[in-house]
Formats: sequence, structure tokens, C-alpha cells
Amino acid sequence: MGALQSSDIARKDRIVSRNPANGEVLGEVPDMTAAEVKAAVERARGAQVGWGALPVRERCDRVARFRDLVVRRAPELCDLISKEGGKTRAEALSMEVMLIADLATYFCKRAPKILSPESISLHLIKTRASYLHYVPRGVVGIIAPWNFPFGIPAGELVMALLAGNGVVLKPSDIAPLIALKCKELYDAAGLPPDLFQVVTGRGPAGAALIESGIDYCIFTGSTTTGKKVAAACGERLIPCTLELGGKAPAIVCADADVERTARALVWGAFANQGQVCVSVERVYALEAVHDELVEKIIAQTQKLRQGDPAGEATLDTGSMTWDRQVEIVEERLKSAVADGATIRTGGVRKGQGLQFEPTVVTGCKQDMEIMRKEIFGPVMPIMKVADEEEAVRLSNDSHLGLAAYVFTDDRQKGRRLAERIEAGTVMVNDCLLTYGAPETPWGGVKQSGIGHTHSDRGLRDLCQQRHVNYDRLALKRELWWYPYSDKVYKQTLKLMKWIFR
Ligand code: NAD
Repeated sequence: MGALQSSDIARKDRIVSRNPANGEVLGEVPDMTAAEVKAAVERARGAQVGWGALPVRERCDRVARFRDLVVRRAPELCDLISKEGGKTRAEALSMEVMLIADLATYFCKRAPKILSPESISLHLIKTRASYLHYVPRGVVGIIAPWNFPFGIPAGELVMALLAGNGVVLKPSDIAPLIALKCKELYDAAGLPPDLFQVVTGRGPAGAALIESGIDYCIFTGSTTTGKKVAAACGERLIPCTLELGGKAPAIVCADADVERTARALVWGAFANQGQVCVSVERVYALEAVHDELVEKIIAQTQKLRQGDPAGEATLDTGSMTWDRQVEIVEERLKSAVADGATIRTGGVRKGQGLQFEPTVVTGCKQDMEIMRKEIFGPVMPIMKVADEEEAVRLSNDSHLGLAAYVFTDDRQKGRRLAERIEAGTVMVNDCLLTYGAPETPWGGVKQSGIGHTHSDRGLRDLCQQRHVNYDRLALKRELWWYPYSDKVYKQTLKLMKWIFR
């Protein structure tokens, strides 16, 4: 999609983007029709033919120019990410822009190796050899959420392009402008204009993208929408990666460094106003440390500086992004209080716009809604548990399994506990961080998703993996061909006994 035409806007249903911290209108985009989405996919498909035929190294050199612009124009990107999403500029930089600079650098260096053919040594059939080679899938459809409107889709874009694909991105209607900025940087980097398209719109535009003949879908969003996306992809047998919701538990063992753990949890629960799929959403603190931990968490939380992120670069926390999400947070808190939990700090809207105070809730019980349903806001529910066994059991008592955290001074024990938790990623003594390590796989278990983004395997998933098997020796005939005979049967029996002796 090129620059928006005013005539386009005049004739379409519009989506208005606002700064959630103060209500300022930032711009508007069209809610595209299914026909427009399909046309975008066809344009990307046309451009993909030449792109997919380029050597991987050449693609890397060209995508690196996009990376260079991300680095050069970082302040402009941070400013828009912060304005459209309400997060602080520090988080726009560290959690989105720098992430893309690092991811693009890593994969531009590594993609030729990751995507080079891989030989498979055959176990039994020594007269033949096999290898896998990686072929672009075609057009990858990316359907993105609003919480990291640059960091999530731009990483997927870079990886899909390096794998030789065309890309059509459907950003969230809650934060669409940053996707257009991404397209602006892409065009400025001199990459093939039609190869990457942005289609703006609401849910139906995402559904239309899946129906438009894409060859692969990367969906990031809620588990509820993810199930619809999975069904639509299944109907068309389109392979997909689903990155869905989370309810990350944090286990705090009796031997944990309480001061450090409190700092980590406050960051893990309130970064990006708790609108992170892997935000700390349940703390299971062992009895021995519970009270001290709670006091330190409350003290740390009350020190956070919150405000309109446009005002200061040094704020710790800004505004939530979406008014409906603030209401969900309020509903979860109301229900927790009705069930007997106590709000120890926060719990109210603040200032202008969608600022919500970082909130700590204690006295939580496993059957409370606040411990079972995703909150996706700045709320840290804490529950006291008797021992590590109970903490592991309660951590696993969830339909979601994206990330989890364990805090202990005993690293060996930390790893043992981590391995027992049903989550795609478990970190010992820290939170959130590994989405920012693009060399590690990102994905959930249970209803948190299917497949992986990031990592070598995430890049390979964006290709068709094809197998070639060829002869190493020029034999007149193979042992397993016709005609079958008693003699060959007996020789094979002998051979089998010798091989599997
Ligand atoms: P959402 O599911 O409401 O929307 C995600 C995207 O899907 C949007 O672009 C939306 O327009 C589109 N969409 C809606 N209906 C569709 C349909 N029927 N077909 C195709 N597309 C459709 O999610 P959200 O509110 O934007 O994001 C928040 C959720 O995303 C949270 O649950 C969070 O945990 C999750 N999330 C997960 C990850 C992860 O890596 N696992 C990362 C970020 C966010």
C-alpha cells in the first residue's frame, strides 16, 4: 500500500488512531474491504517471484538497509510508538526498536547459514543420501496485535523477507499508524515496493487476509481470535504460527533474594503497563518470604513515576493503550475484591486518558478469576503457598502456557523447577526478557499457541522444507527392486541379523 490518498479516506469507513494518554487524534486509516486485501496479496505475490529467486545473501544485504534506517530513525519511531500505544519512550526503544535492530542484524548475518541445505546421514540405506533445502513459501500474512505494534510485526517481516517471501501485514486497528511508518522505512530502504503491503482494517480485514490465498499465516493475538484463525487456516490447509495469550506465573522460593525478586516482579508485571503476553500475572510466594516480598513489592511499586509519556523521557510507566482493556482490568479487580482479595496499592485510573495505577493485589486464591483469566494490564496478583510442590502444581493449573518465572538463590533447583513448568519459556531469576533474544525460540504450549517465531527454527518455518534423496553409487539395480527372489530374501535376513546384532 502506498501513501494514503485523501480520496480513499473519504470513501471508506475510517479507523481513527488516538494517543491513549491524552486523546489527541494522530491520524486515520481506511478499513479495507476484502477485495482490497486480496489485491494487496496479489501484488505481493507478483513481487515475490523475483525476490524469492535472489540468493539469501543478497536478500540479507538489502534487508540490512531497512535495519540501518530503523537505527538511524529510532527517535522518530520511538516517538510514534509511544504516542500511539501510550508506553514510555524508554520502553519503545528497548522493547521494540532496539529489538528489531538486533533481530535484523542477527538474522542478516545468520540467514545464509540457517537456510543452507542440510544433509541427513541415512541410517540404513548407505547407497543413497538425503538433504533438506529451504524454499520460500510465497506470501506470508502477518496479523498483529496492538501491544507491540512495531516490535512484533517488524521482526516477523524481516524474517519472512529473508526467507524469500512477500509479506502482507494486517496491523491491529488499535495501533495502525506504526505499521504504515514501518512501510515508509521499508520503501525508503529501496526494497521492492510491492513485496511488502500493509492492509489496515478491523477483524474482518484479518479474516479476509486468510481467505486471500496467502501461503502462511503468523497470527499474534488473543486465544479467542487465535482459535478462529486456526479454524480458517485449517479449512484452507494454510500452515500457521499462533502466538496467543498468557497467564505467566512467578514462583518465589524461600531462598530467593527478596529485594532483587521484588524489583524483577515489579518490572515484569508493570512494563508496558502490564500489556505484555508474558507479564507476571500470578505470583506464588512461599510462606517464608511472602510478607517481606509483599512489603518490598508495594514499596517498589509506589516509587514508579507514571504520566503522559510525551512529557518526559524518564517516566517508568505511561498509559494503557485501549479503553476496553482498562475496563477488563477494572472488571478483574472488582471480581477479585468481591471474592475476598485486597488491593494493596493502585487500583484506580489516574490523570488524563487511559493511565491506570500499577496495582498489587494480595490474598488471592487459585479459583479467583484474577488468577485464571488473562488481565493484560498493570495488576500483580499475589498468593501465599505452602511449598514449591504447591507452587508448581498451581502454576500448571491453567489452560495457558506461554512463559513462567522461578526465583531462587539455588540455580540448580531453579532449573529443575523450570523444567517441570508447562510453558514455552521459563526464566530463572528474571522475567519477560527472552522475546528480546531473537536467537531463542518464542512460542507457547497448551492454549498459548502453536509453533515458534524467532530462532533458527522460526526462520526455517517460513520456508517450505523440501527433501531431496539421490544415489551415491551407480549400481545396475537396487536390492529392493523387482524381481523378488528367495535368494535375496535370505541374504536380506542375514544382513538384517548382522546389522541389528
Ligand atoms: P486480538 O485477538 O483481539 O487481535 C489480534 C489481531 O487479530 C488484530 O489485528 C485483529 O484485528 C485481528 N483479528 C480479529 N478478528 C480476526 C479474525 N476473525 N480473523 C483474523 N484476524 C482477526 O488481540 P489483541 O487484543 O490485539 O492483542 C492482545 C492479545 O494478544 C493478548 O491476549 C496477548 O496475550 C496476545 N499476545 C500474544 C503474544 C505472543 O507472543 N504469544 C504477543 C503479544 C500479544
